Amino acid sequence: MTTTPQSSTVASASPANSPVADPQNIAVVGGGMAGLLAALVLARDGHHITVYERDDTDVPATADEAFDKWDRRGAAHARQSHAILARLRRILRDRAPDVLEELMAQGATELSVERILPPDIDDREPRPGDEDLALLCVRRLTIEWVLRKAVTAEPNVVWRGGVGVAGLLADGTDVRGLRLDDGTTVEADLVVVGGGRNSPILDWIAELGGAVQPVEEQSEAGIVYLSRFYRLRDGQELPLLTKDGAGGDIGYIAFAGFYGDNNTFSITFGVPTNDRELLAALREPSAWEAAIRTLKPLDPWTADGLAEPITDVESMARLKNRVRRFVVDGTPVATGVVVIGDAALATNPWYGKGCSLAGIAAEELSRALKQHGRDRVGLAHAMDTAVREELEPHYAMAVRQDADRIKLHTSMHDGSEPDAMAAATRDFVLNGLLPATRVDADVFRAFFRSFNMLDKPEVLMTDQKVMAAAFAAHAKKDERPPAPKLGPERDEFLAVMAAATA
Ligand SMILES: Cc1cc2nc3c(=O)[nH]c(=O)nc-3n(C[C@H](O)[C@H](O)[C@H](O)COP(=O)(O)OP(=O)(O)OC[C@H]3O[C@@H](n4cnc5c(N)ncnc54)[C@H](O)[C@@H]3O)c2cc1C
Repeated sequence: MTTTPQSSTVASASPANSPVADPQNIAVVGGGMAGLLAALVLARDGHHITVYERDDTDVPATADEAFDKWDRRGAAHARQSHAILARLRRILRDRAPDVLEELMAQGATELSVERILPPDIDDREPRPGDEDLALLCVRRLTIEWVLRKAVTAEPNVVWRGGVGVAGLLADGTDVRGLRLDDGTTVEADLVVVGGGRNSPILDWIAELGGAVQPVEEQSEAGIVYLSRFYRLRDGQELPLLTKDGAGGDIGYIAFAGFYGDNNTFSITFGVPTNDRELLAALREPSAWEAAIRTLKPLDPWTADGLAEPITDVESMARLKNRVRRFVVDGTPVATGVVVIGDAALATNPWYGKGCSLAGIAAEELSRALKQHGRDRVGLAHAMDTAVREELEPHYAMAVRQDADRIKLHTSMHDGSEPDAMAAATRDFVLNGLLPATRVDADVFRAFFRSFNMLDKPEVLMTDQKVMAAAFAAHAKKDERPPAPKLGPERDEFLAVMAAATA
């Protein structure tokens, strides 16, 4: 059976959106962050959207219920710490201000630049652009829940929960719809695939038998990501970032505290994949609790009586940086299909970029559809250009950072000489760039904009004021008192954990 999803109503457009003249029937595969953001933006452009999401669960009633009970086995990482960078906040503010408002009403908070400007900076004057510069503190399942409610409330969205997609319906390499798990097919003017990092999209395209196949590039992130969530006890408050920040990288391990919503927060470690001893130890909750109490920036987060854990220690491995290109040597591998989110491009979660990358892809797709309409070849090229220009620089940065870190971890592990370039880069960041951010309001903002993907990565490193300040700080590194230690040496860290489990 082939059906054509239709809806009868016209989209409610927010002021930032201008509806298209020729709305299309768009099938979205996957209702995770990428599918939701694309569905929201495209529905508000006036398109008719059907979302096919394999997970078959009712929408929870509250944010806490979403966290405690929502069955999101299709996105197992949804219960890991997520930072929602300023880039995605800005996309929501500009494209769906009501969704941002609802997020705040549901307990999200904002870490704006004026709130986290380092205490040693006297110049606290606001700057143009500060209105963009705020992180969203919210659990991933809360933002997903708010987005899901917003998407399903759109009159021109049909949500097909519990419906898995098995492949593409196509005329040669021209995609015309979907094949569903139940053997039926559906037609669509355009298919948007947002099936996440395990999406079999490459197999689906291979099945079309085209002469040109997608190109994939991938590299190891080099870490396992471990998180544990906590809830503040009645009457307790988590202080705002202190001078020590809320995390750090002490060479053999990186750690961070994440502010959540509704009196929750989480603590996360990035453990080198080759350090099996550390990984095994941290998975034990009592060892974890002892470990987090050795890390100075986490002192406010681990104060006696502050909070109680609400999850076990959850880990996520096999993390990669990966990009797939769907226009190869100038030829689209298929038309009528656009791949977004982790299915197209994924980065090491430690950098917190994934949801913002999904938001950028949704915006770019909206723009490309307005420009190219039903010109399917034009759309494929426009999306390829957008990915290369707007997304890949962030991917390339993650690849470079991870390659350097993996080299340093390897030498730490096997006692070999550290890679000179990787060591020099780390030294410049730790003893030049970061100290400069702590004393200069503009350097801090430039760094924070870069971290939050408001600027492309190269902007920071080519900013003359930033580089001059970083080199000056680096030149004086030996004149400064040694930076306070953020945590113990690895042996001591392991010993503390061993004692906690003895
Ligand atoms: C441990 C970890 C921590 C992270 N931390 C951050 C962070 O701090 N900040 C940040 O911005 N990003 C973070 N990310 C990245 C972010 O979670 C992803 O980039 C984001 O989830 C990608 O969204 P997506 O929609 O592409 O995939 P997902 O969110 O994985 O959603 C895919 C959806 O598609 C559905 N699906 C899959 N196949 C089918 C099918 N055949 N038919 C129907 N439905 C299907 C799945 O059920 C799922 O709902 C983190 C990732 C990990 C792994």
